[in-house]
Amino acid sequence: MSYILLEKKLKEIADLQYAIAVLHWDQETYMPIKSSASRSRQIATLSTLAHQKACSEELKNTIDAALEENLTKEQKANVSLALKDYTKAVLLPEAFVNRLSLHTSEAYHAWVAARKQNDYSLFQEALTTMIELKREQASFYKTAHPYDALLDEYEPGATVAQLDPLFKSLKEQLLPLLKRIKQAEQVDNSFLHKYYSQQQQWDFSMQILQHIGYDFEAGRQDFAEHPFTTSFSSQDVRITTRVDEYDFSNLLWSSIHEAGHALYEQGLRDDMYGMPIGSACSLSIHESQSRIWENNIGRGIHFWRYWFPILQQQVDGFENSSLQEFYAAINKVSPSLIRTEADELTYHFHVMIRYELEKGLIEGTLHPKDLKQAWNDAYQNYLGVCPQDDVTGILQDIHWSHGSFGYFPTYSLGSLYAAQFYAFAKQTIPNLESAIEHGDTKDFLNWLRNSIHTFGRRYTSDELCKLVTGSSLDTQYFFDYAHNKYKDIYKF
Ligand code: ZN
Repeated sequence: MSYILLEKKLKEIADLQYAIAVLHWDQETYMPIKSSASRSRQIATLSTLAHQKACSEELKNTIDAALEENLTKEQKANVSLALKDYTKAVLLPEAFVNRLSLHTSEAYHAWVAARKQNDYSLFQEALTTMIELKREQASFYKTAHPYDALLDEYEPGATVAQLDPLFKSLKEQLLPLLKRIKQAEQVDNSFLHKYYSQQQQWDFSMQILQHIGYDFEAGRQDFAEHPFTTSFSSQDVRITTRVDEYDFSNLLWSSIHEAGHALYEQGLRDDMYGMPIGSACSLSIHESQSRIWENNIGRGIHFWRYWFPILQQQVDGFENSSLQEFYAAINKVSPSLIRTEADELTYHFHVMIRYELEKGLIEGTLHPKDLKQAWNDAYQNYLGVCPQDDVTGILQDIHWSHGSFGYFPTYSLGSLYAAQFYAFAKQTIPNLESAIEHGDTKDFLNWLRNSIHTFGRRYTSDELCKLVTGSSLDTQYFFDYAHNKYKDIYKF
């Protein structure tokens, strides 16, 4: 039966891809520096093998034969998604994939070195080559706008034509809200910047991860330069975090965020290993899962009614704060330089800045030599702040060193999906918020498992959103959520 043969072939491709992921995880956590060159080779070799398999004539013949078979609906969905992936993969020549993979490792090391020296000029050359490669990649797909080809990697079907108006309307909704907040009495979050021991922060985060359902027998948490989640199957999903002993808001919410990603991956069907239905829907849906835990749950008053007294007992430094002060502090809105430390509201502006710059770089209207100035100008325009150095400016994100152009918009989309899903979770799960106040998020996780995780790629982001909430993505849900939250905190 061709379907069985197709399963075997797709699982082999997944084996290679997950092996590459293990090598990447190691590279970003424990790998000694001298291993860089050999690691780049190893990853490039495996990437080429995976690409050869994904583009083979044999795979195409197996897909074609499976299309003729009498299959279940699920099997049919797997075959048609496999055909879609194949059709896309064959557009990229093998030599190009190899060049891109080799350069990606080089660019990553250049980015790390540039960050160490706080000097963008040390990264500029590697970035210039990366952009040339990405423009070349886009040219193979022949989309309406070259950036559409790159967006499609992360958010299937997303286009500049759709995102331009979406970001425009989001901007029009959020700017007046930001203005009201700026005019209100400001929140004091200075106590979050006292000394909080690394060990106590780590232990507290591990406890919360366990409590919300992250399975430590199918994952682990480590430190890394830039927090991320990676998966080697639904039975091994690893997260990383970072710590700042003078910024309590750094480690915990980063851990909860990555755990949200990991809960999604751990919730994918193990019996669908390597098959399209056994993998995540899209990056925006992935991001909705991290943000729903980080923000809608993890920055919510209900969550902290349970956890704040425990925090006061276990982490030295909160003895003199009240729950209300803590809740306001962790939700303080303040235009700032670092995307990953931004509040939920101004976060969207960080994304809009990257979206505009990336479009320019890929169109060729912006050159990497002018990028630093463009970056600094954009921060001044959108947020009224200007980076004083490169580490807090243009070198802050790992994405460009990885060649991940088109990725940033999924962060905003994820946060918009999260708000819409959470609004429906509250309607669907009886007494959700009172359960959360008692430290019980099991029903919520089960709801996510049954409404979202279990389907994997069976539906597109838009189909899934309609299935769960009855309508397509609507920025109004995020606006209402943000407006209600900040109205309470800023008393307007
Ligand atoms: Zn994320």
